[in-house]
Amino acid sequence: MRGGTVCTPGGRRAADVCVSGGTIAAVERGAGRGREEVDARGMLVLPGGIDAHVHSRDPGFPEKEDFASLTAAAAAGGITTVVDMPNTVPAVETAAVFGAKVEQVTARAAVDFALWGLLGAGTRSEDVDDLLDAGAVGLKAYLGYAMRRSNRQVVYVPDAGDTDLEPPPDYGTVARLAPDLARRRAPLAAHCEDPGVLRAFHRRLDGYGDLLAARPALAEAVAIAALGVISQRTGLEVHVVHLSSALGLAAARDAGRAGARMVLETCPQYLWLTDEDAARLGPVAKMYPAIRTAADRAALREALGAGGISRVATDHAPHADDEKLGRSFEDALPGSPGVETLYLSSLELARRLGDVTAAARWVAEGPATALRLHPRKGAIQVGADADLVVVDPDAETVVSAGAMHSRQRHGVLEGQRFGFAVRAVYVRGELVARDGEPAARPGRGRLVRPAR
Ligand SMILES: [Zn+2]
Repeated sequence: MRGGTVCTPGGRRAADVCVSGGTIAAVERGAGRGREEVDARGMLVLPGGIDAHVHSRDPGFPEKEDFASLTAAAAAGGITTVVDMPNTVPAVETAAVFGAKVEQVTARAAVDFALWGLLGAGTRSEDVDDLLDAGAVGLKAYLGYAMRRSNRQVVYVPDAGDTDLEPPPDYGTVARLAPDLARRRAPLAAHCEDPGVLRAFHRRLDGYGDLLAARPALAEAVAIAALGVISQRTGLEVHVVHLSSALGLAAARDAGRAGARMVLETCPQYLWLTDEDAARLGPVAKMYPAIRTAADRAALREALGAGGISRVATDHAPHADDEKLGRSFEDALPGSPGVETLYLSSLELARRLGDVTAAARWVAEGPATALRLHPRKGAIQVGADADLVVVDPDAETVVSAGAMHSRQRHGVLEGQRFGFAVRAVYVRGELVARDGEPAARPGRGRLVRPAR
């Protein structure tokens, strides 16, 4: 790849990138001729993106998404590794389910992938070891979310009278298993909304104001504080996923100062939108946690710019159109797609904050390091996988549902303008997308295991 500007968190420099056998063989100016040459003059060359938080719905809900549509969207947007959450069906709570899922989704994957395992109420120490041995990047806890016994499906809104439900994991479950995770240097990803606070504030959702009142920032802060204490006592590394509020950010900072190991993730929807935008967008913008105020957005942007938040991921959570569009706030399912616009929105935000290369930290080096995939992933250096994104810094992309490749095309960033275009995307040296169109053969993606 010749004549581009290589952008990494270390800065930008003019260099050619030589690829051999799927890995990077040299990064230097005036490298020798290759068998195949790609002209990258005028372009930025960035490390392939890693979306540390997607919901592929595969296996389980093909009407919402599967690995083929997910990874087509990822490839188109410059995401070369997706990290899938474990609430597929059956949930990824044993090594056997992990193995079956890997086999099933590999056949459809157009980009590389890694998987989270599930920490549930019934998870035992042996299960933690087995899942990590199988290759999980860590375990995910959905505090307050129950499990359907019959098909092992995670249930977001448990009905008290439903006898088929296994109770949700709680702080006790986390405290019991924290030493096992800490011993293996594996993180716990936590959906941080305290179930007790959510119960106390529960109400019918007639409008966006009800959603904010029913899922207050307080719930996020209380859960973060509790997990922070567990981390201090056990050494557990807590990944606060989809951080949405200034109050939650303050709780995480307090916990960190007290000795907790906290890694913070936020999402484009919380960095770009406010409650006013969400109210205008309607049920498409219903998600947990909620999109909050301009002050919350400003606090998250500031922390991201200052390095206190180490990654941006999407919480890509597609649904079938009839589960979102035309429904009320009360009845619409929570979640929104986003994997395809992660890199572009991060580049735009990084530029506005004064340094385009920061995007490479937020969506490549940051998640790769925290998930122990670095430097094989998330880096442009000799020996790393040749996951590369060629970006035109002089073009503009307007987000449009019609151009998206996820099965749910209507995302919350619809209509946003980003002053970049993704021109070409490579996974281990092979072209997987050109000019926003997927070009990969399904089945070329591979499971990536963390190095511990
Ligand atoms: Zn999620």
